[in-house]
Amino acid sequence: MPMPIVMDRVSESDLENINKFMELALHQAKCAFDNLEVPIGCVLVEDGEVIATGFNRTSETRNATRHAEMEAIDTLLEKWQKCSLSKSQVAQKFSNCILYVTCEPCIMCAMALSILGQKKVLPNFDISN
Ligand SMILES: [Zn+2]
Repeated sequence: MPMPIVMDRVSESDLENINKFMELALHQAKCAFDNLEVPIGCVLVEDGEVIATGFNRTSETRNATRHAEMEAIDTLLEKWQKCSLSKSQVAQKFSNCILYVTCEPCIMCAMALSILGQKKVLPNFDISN
């Protein structure tokens, strides 16, 4: 099963959007921090639009699996379940999304993203070099 790839080549024209979405992910991380959580946040973007956000809620929920990525994934799955999307339609939609996350996903989240069909993950690396 292929793991989601980390985007490694970024054009100059994409940089502005990347910075915008990473700022939103960082805002999510700030929300986690304000809630005394490990400050990790993410946004899922489809066709240039944020379709889900998430931040760590492990302490609040007393559930070690409630990572930012899982929060965003569950938001989308709930939304798409209400639309009665099939598994293949969900995989197709995930494959068109880009995940902007403030920290490289852990193995649990990476595997969940892979199973769902997520192909592009952009952690908050320094991409200016
Ligand atoms: Zn994780």
